[in-house]
Amino acid sequence: MAAQFHQFTCLEDNYGVLAHDPSTGATASIDAPEAGPVLAALKEKGWTLTHVLVTHHHNDHIGGVAELRANYPAVQVVAPAADRARIPGADLYVNEGDEVRVGAMRALVIATPGHTSGHIVYHMPDEKALFAGDTLFAMGCGRAFEAPGQVLYQSVMKLAGLPGDTQVYCGHEYTMSNGRFAQKVDPDNAALDARMDEVAALRAKGLATVPTNMDLERATNPFLRVDDPGVRRTLGMENASSADVFAELRERKNRG
Ligand code: ZN
Ligand code: FE
Repeated sequence: MAAQFHQFTCLEDNYGVLAHDPSTGATASIDAPEAGPVLAALKEKGWTLTHVLVTHHHNDHIGGVAELRANYPAVQVVAPAADRARIPGADLYVNEGDEVRVGAMRALVIATPGHTSGHIVYHMPDEKALFAGDTLFAMGCGRAFEAPGQVLYQSVMKLAGLPGDTQVYCGHEYTMSNGRFAQKVDPDNAALDARMDEVAALRAKGLATVPTNMDLERATNPFLRVDDPGVRRTLGMENASSADVFAELRERKNRG
């Protein structure tokens, strides 16, 4: 039976996601922004928590871990090895290339330094799903808090080549703000304008704009379009390196 995914809102604009393997009953929470909504989602689905897959150490991603463990003492908490000191008490620390098993589901670890130095994402190739944390967002990417934009570029490029039908789950609902910025730097992109109309309609109804997918991101996310002549022309960076164009985009987005 195919894996099942359930996404729900947490805190202000975070998303929680449960990944469930019906054949074994194994269920992973990707990050734990806060315990309450994760526990409620588990109850609603009738699923038992077996794993927490942590992407990075920010409190809006690990704040609920202790309370989840109190409710599910057998839970396996998986966290980036590079952040052993900042995410103490995990059961398993993982590195790029490691494979985490959640029942019959396989999650491959990809290191994506940038937003934080230890940030990792989880790719489930068989389920065509990517849990991107705060590295890649719909039409945007995370802030490069702990590495230069050029390093975050290398991280985002690792994800850019994933199959187009990969469902991308993101840590936050930042799509409207990202899309408005995208339209400024990629003004002649009809696919982007069409997507923004859809996104605005979803948000007007209070609905989620994620998960997204890699095909859509490659067509509309300026951070994946740093080699597009139109984007480069808008920035006046026709001859710059891809990493420098990316870093400039990140800087401009920071300034609003
Ligand atoms: Zn974060
Ligand atoms: Fe976050």
